[in-house]
Amino acid sequence: MSCASKRRHAGRRRVRVRTVSDALPLPLPAPPAAPPQYPPPDLTPWLAGNCGLRGVHHFESGQPGPHTVVTALMHGNEPSGAYALNTLLKKGPQPRQGRLSLIFLNPDAYARYNPAHPTRARYVEEDMNRLWRPELIHSHHDSLEMRRLREVLPVIETADLLLDLHSMLWPGPPLFLHSGQERNHSMACHLANTLTPSPLVIRDDGHQDGSRLIDYERFSTQGGQARACLLETGQHWSQSAAQMALLAVRQFTGLTDATSTNTQDMKNALSKKTVVKTATVTDCVQAHTAAFAFVRPYDSAEIIPSAGTVIALDGPDEIRTPYDNCMLVMPNFRVRRGHTAVRLAQPAEQTL
Ligand SMILES: [Zn+2]
Repeated sequence: MSCASKRRHAGRRRVRVRTVSDALPLPLPAPPAAPPQYPPPDLTPWLAGNCGLRGVHHFESGQPGPHTVVTALMHGNEPSGAYALNTLLKKGPQPRQGRLSLIFLNPDAYARYNPAHPTRARYVEEDMNRLWRPELIHSHHDSLEMRRLREVLPVIETADLLLDLHSMLWPGPPLFLHSGQERNHSMACHLANTLTPSPLVIRDDGHQDGSRLIDYERFSTQGGQARACLLETGQHWSQSAAQMALLAVRQFTGLTDATSTNTQDMKNALSKKTVVKTATVTDCVQAHTAAFAFVRPYDSAEIIPSAGTVIALDGPDEIRTPYDNCMLVMPNFRVRRGHTAVRLAQPAEQTL
């Protein structure tokens, strides 16, 4: 089901309403930008990879176990994942079970990253995280990102557990996204439970404008075994995002004994009964016009108490919350026409 599909809610109201509104749009805020709070890692030692694939590092335990995969730099301007993998690689991971692969997905985009312009270099030709659809992959579609995707696909095709590291333009608390299968939800919740601050876990069916790695059929097919989630670690340039990425990678690889690091922490966390904050995306609000604007600043994960509250204006339309206690996930205050402006989600709690 696509993100735009409407789920059923008692008393649900319409999200988009054509009306003459008294609400005033917020003046377009300047895009956030700041110098990185830590030196962007030098990946030169790792670019060749250690298994014949550029930017791919593979480690075997010699023991049976899952293939654990961590991916970073899907987007070239999101260095927190690169920071985490660089730190791990310097220590030399030694999986105790199964296999571990660490992948720098788009080193060409990262090569263009300029700390003076930390929002640029998301990709070279197109967004690599909208291409993970078999029909597209096996078509004649061509770009630098698509060629790179095809290069690393054999590794992804054997992944049992995958963590994809990202960061955000607008400030907000860290959060996990997954494509909606229970196995992915369970993995993300258990991982969130080991982290401080504990990220929200968001079920999100995806974007209308393309498929993410976590949506790839291997991870999202009903009845499948392989699991994946994406972690938005924080704001692109923040130290806390880098620390969150590193902590998450350590815990994730510990979860499967892919490295010995923090395995005991993870087992302790799993033995405690706790509650993880979650939310299910019910609507992806896309900007239909270039004039899309929120009516006030919102924090990511902010909850709007009342159904019918006007949160944004989009040309002739008002955007309203469709139910009480509606969570706004990652609002984009400078959204382009046709792109996702905000996800609306219904909060819940998951007891582990
Ligand atoms: Zn990203």
